[in-house]
Amino acid sequence: MRVGWLGVMLCGVAVAQTPQLPEQDRALSREIFKQLIEVNSEDSDGSVTAAAVVAREQLLKAGFAAVDLVLAGPNERKQNLVARYRGAADSKLKPILIIGHLDVVEARRADWTVDPYTFLEKDGYFYGRGTQDMKDADAIVVEDFIRLRREGWVPKRDIVLALTADEEGGKSNGVDWLLKNRPELMQAEFVLNPDSGGVELRGGKATSMGVEATEKTYADFRLMATNRGGHSSLPRPDNAIYELMHALAKLEASPFPVEVNPVVRAELAEEEKIATPERAALIHGVLAEPQDAKAVAEFVKTPTDNALLRTTCVATMLSGGHAPNALPAMATANVNCRILPGHSQEQVRQQLVALFGDPKLTVEYVADDGTASATAPSRESLAPPPPLPEVFDPLREVTAEMWPGIPVIPTMEAGASDSIYTMMAGLPSYGVSGVGVDFDDVRAHGRDERVRVESFYQGVEFYYLYLKELGR
Ligand SMILES: [Zn+2]
Repeated sequence: MRVGWLGVMLCGVAVAQTPQLPEQDRALSREIFKQLIEVNSEDSDGSVTAAAVVAREQLLKAGFAAVDLVLAGPNERKQNLVARYRGAADSKLKPILIIGHLDVVEARRADWTVDPYTFLEKDGYFYGRGTQDMKDADAIVVEDFIRLRREGWVPKRDIVLALTADEEGGKSNGVDWLLKNRPELMQAEFVLNPDSGGVELRGGKATSMGVEATEKTYADFRLMATNRGGHSSLPRPDNAIYELMHALAKLEASPFPVEVNPVVRAELAEEEKIATPERAALIHGVLAEPQDAKAVAEFVKTPTDNALLRTTCVATMLSGGHAPNALPAMATANVNCRILPGHSQEQVRQQLVALFGDPKLTVEYVADDGTASATAPSRESLAPPPPLPEVFDPLREVTAEMWPGIPVIPTMEAGASDSIYTMMAGLPSYGVSGVGVDFDDVRAHGRDERVRVESFYQGVEFYYLYLKELGR
């Protein structure tokens, strides 16, 4: 999901009607969006395949060749669609890869005031599960492919769209699966992922264009203390619950070191220009070389700021003991870490082991599918690449055309998106979206998810213009 940039700007650019978007593309993008929203693609009882087929049928109908519309995946419900827009036949350039997840977070009808799987236009918004995260973008790129093809446009390189399963949950992450099982489909110079980044709105006015240029890696670790147990009437100094507790106390007291990577540096430098004087002074101290320790200490008091500057690990679950009158034979905790780019999950696991300094305590890595192992993957996520001019130059151009005057700001996502898989595969990956979301109306994963109607159509126009610039 995308997380809005938290800078404050007072001026902005109004969300107007989108004049360039032809009526037929307005209608078609709406239709594709509607069809995608009305397919339930939850992990528990939905089908990603059904959503992939919706996109495939639309592209087939528009004249894309069946061989360029590959359905592939590990099982019946988790088929991914890889659609290829053919570039110049003699091109030696690697393709541009766009990834978009088709699955959605579970939505319970009882929690919503409207049906999450009925596409509804009301009061200037489209409602439905996935309207923000991220069937809006899925529909947008499919429609732009169709419009570009209709116009006879031939890019200088192939543009590949992978619409995939299980970003939000489930055991069949489509990007991961495709990279492992169909790597030939995922060759790319760089990757665009509209799941993050985007236009931030304040009161409906565009204030900034965020581009996710790097993100943290997610990792769960299971701390476990075991003990021979015994009768609680005869306590001993060794006790699984106390040992675990001591380890957690060390975790609480020892945050990871502060690091300012190039993306965060660029992000903060942009924010400094428009921040209040107090905030600007704080940022100045953080970015100064050498750093102003007092400014850093003040800065990291805010959780969102803290998350920008360091790997975080926090206890999220706890269990232990088996009877009120027995010494605990086992105590476990889940520690959830969000790791700065350039570090591996195994590095962090070893840092935790060293911090706890207790050989009786095990620190296991817990994979997405719940299996625990003694060591974690040692692959480092790609350290933030310098913002690629071939990505950022056209982006600045199109942004200036559509929202004159708003800054384009590279950001680091504290959460995790599917870009982590492509970044780990060595592909520079950027979160680019033209859909504006109000900073105080982020409903991704929440109830009554919605997107502004005009923001959606602007997003359609944005990717159309952006692809044309990228493919020139
Ligand atoms: Zn998402």
